Amino acid sequence: MTITIALSKGRIFEETMPLLNAAGITALEDPESSRKLILTTNRADVRLIIVRASDVPTYVQYGAADLGVAGKDVLEEHGGTGLYQPLDMNIARCRMMVAVRDDFDYESAVRQGARLRVATKYVQTARAHFAAKGVHVDLIKLYGSMELAPLVGLSDAIVDLVSSGNTLKANHLKAVEHIADISSRLIVNQAALKLKHDVIQPMLDAFKLAIRK
Ligand code: ATP
Ligand code: MG
Repeated sequence: MTITIALSKGRIFEETMPLLNAAGITALEDPESSRKLILTTNRADVRLIIVRASDVPTYVQYGAADLGVAGKDVLEEHGGTGLYQPLDMNIARCRMMVAVRDDFDYESAVRQGARLRVATKYVQTARAHFAAKGVHVDLIKLYGSMELAPLVGLSDAIVDLVSSGNTLKANHLKAVEHIADISSRLIVNQAALKLKHDVIQPMLDAFKLAIRK
């Protein structure tokens, strides 16, 4: 019985490795230097697959991967159907924020009931946030570099992830609202959890002990 774990390259892969190691799993290849999308581990029954961050829930939902690690941002957009989310891994921490140009008076625009143009990769999250506030928005879907949109007049605001705030600052933007704290979660295919319980449960227990609070 093989266990397949879906991870994305970059910070999620790097920050998940210590937790996998704590469960006795070591990657034998590095996705940054290897072009392989299926990586072997020290355990013959465990393999890692490398997918786009936003595709991790899809692989797990359909059972192509048994486990995965995905940001709460990605899970909110996906909807979480068919996924069991037993653990907050407390890695890849950042915040979902609304940001505008530093010369834009967001408070009065909202107070005056202006219709805001908001560019974001996180359309579901943004829609829910502004609907709850009763702010009318036109959402513009982007796939990256959201910071550019207000600078060239594509939008009044963006909804994006912020950690240090340096990217905002470098582009003369300011954060004006905090939508949610984000971290990455372990996700498990619900059928796999039942069928492969004897292998998966000890992994969950080991992750739980190794997660930094
Ligand atoms: P892709 O590059 O494939 O479009 P992505 O940009 O979402 O995807 P990453 O930048 O590796 O991929 O981000 C993966 C996850 O890490 C995100 O879903 C989010 O949960 C988290 N994350 C994103 N940006 C930051 C950040 N600046 N600091 C900490 N965590 C972050
Ligand atoms: Mg990125």
